[in-house]
Amino acid sequence: MRLILLGPPGAGKGTQAQILVEKFNIPQLSTGDMLRAAVRAQTDIGKKAKAVMDAGELVSDAIVNAIVAERIDQDDCAQGFILDGYPRTLAQADAVEAMLSERDLTLDAVVELVVDDKALVGRIVKRAEDARAAGQPVRKDDNPDVFEERLREYYKKTAPLTGYYYAKGKLRTVDGMASIEDVTRQIEKILAE
Ligand code: AMP
Repeated sequence: MRLILLGPPGAGKGTQAQILVEKFNIPQLSTGDMLRAAVRAQTDIGKKAKAVMDAGELVSDAIVNAIVAERIDQDDCAQGFILDGYPRTLAQADAVEAMLSERDLTLDAVVELVVDDKALVGRIVKRAEDARAAGQPVRKDDNPDVFEERLREYYKKTAPLTGYYYAKGKLRTVDGMASIEDVTRQIEKILAE
């Protein structure tokens, strides 16, 4: 199964992806996680991406497309994968199409988590608090100022993807304001169709 999770930062894509990983035994490909790992490892990509990520802006399409193209060829992706936080621009969406068609693969669904903007800042603040309480590192971009920029980037560059996938007949939406369990149920129902 190959699935794309769409939605603004804080919509719950990562949370749902982790649950679906367990249920379907396919990996979560989070470009945010991959980029953070590159920043930590101080690779060339990490060095290029760090300032952009800290500012809440988007890393270049060329960088993320290359990371994903390499990742989907790994063995654990043979049965499918969940794309979380990718694609985020129309150029990335075109790149996904090309990557899949080159490999004779298709996309099963694009699921958009529809959420109320006003709830998002609160969710991000909570994510930072939870990480702090668990003794985990707090993401630098999980603060209200950077979050505003991340949301602006989302509306400018990522929100048009809903139209892109709707036009292709692939877009399905779920109520992302429901409980975590309920959102999972909604996604499973879509995947079962
Ligand atoms: P995320 O963990 O998905 O919220 O991503 C954190 C940050 O990583 C974003 O604010 C971007 O700076 C960068 N990033 C993650 N995924 C992408 C992507 N698909 N395209 C461009 N930048 C990305």
